[in-house]
Amino acid sequence: MVGIAPIKRLGQHFLRDEDAARRMVESLAVSPGDHVIEIGPGEGVLTHWLARSPAKSLTLIEIDGRLIPGLLARFGSDGRFRIVHADFLSWEFPESGGKYRVIGNLPYAVTSPILFRLFDHRIRIHDAVVMVQKEVGERLVSGPGCKAYGIPSVLFQLYCRVHLLFYVPREVFRPVPEVDSAVISVHFLDEPVVPIADETFFKTVLKTVFGQRRKMLRNTLKPFVDDPRSLEKLDTDLRRRPEELSPEALVALSEKLIRYAVR
Ligand code: SAM
Repeated sequence: MVGIAPIKRLGQHFLRDEDAARRMVESLAVSPGDHVIEIGPGEGVLTHWLARSPAKSLTLIEIDGRLIPGLLARFGSDGRFRIVHADFLSWEFPESGGKYRVIGNLPYAVTSPILFRLFDHRIRIHDAVVMVQKEVGERLVSGPGCKAYGIPSVLFQLYCRVHLLFYVPREVFRPVPEVDSAVISVHFLDEPVVPIADETFFKTVLKTVFGQRRKMLRNTLKPFVDDPRSLEKLDTDLRRRPEELSPEALVALSEKLIRYAVR
């Protein structure tokens, strides 16, 4: 297929490996009755396999209007499809209805905003199988002590089950990007793995401590208290750095800190 001229700004690196496309759709394991959203269907390489699944409905959200006629021609006659010309980042989830299952080979430039939009709408999403830059996938699954461990790792590991399923080399895309990719699955949980009393406070703690990830907690936690001596009451080793603490340990720290915090 010759295809359209790819626009770099839209992260248009089209997958040319049918086998990887099939594996991705198989990983979602669509069941009859499922409502599926595909983010950025492009020329339809994943959609081709989704069309063979028993999904009840398939919503394709594509920002590039040049791709819509091709998608309509290929999938428009299948009544389960809804082909939407929109930016996923501003597309509103329908107010009613069940939980969605999401799939997509995500555009690199907006991968993080898309992942966090899924995260923020997790009440409407059962799970997602998405292709992302390899480093992004590795960051989401990495644990304490790893260079890649940071706020996204902590939040996704507390509110989701994340797995790195397989890698996809750069050579199988048109045009060839500068990075390799990884396919991850994200299963959104109804509740975080440990209870979090005040999520806003917890996120503020994360931003503060990871903002200076190489510094000891003794220094980064100071702004939260009137008197630095109150930090001694936290019953935490204040010589540690945030990158050494598991997501659960960071929640425990935040839960203790909130008792002494100046607010
Ligand atoms: N699914 C196709 C494939 O695997 O070959 C295309 C993947 S390509 C990496 C990313 C696709 O997302 C492109 O079709 C691009 O136009 C679309 N896209 C980029 N930004 C988008 C956005 N904000 N909302 C919806 N689609 C977007």
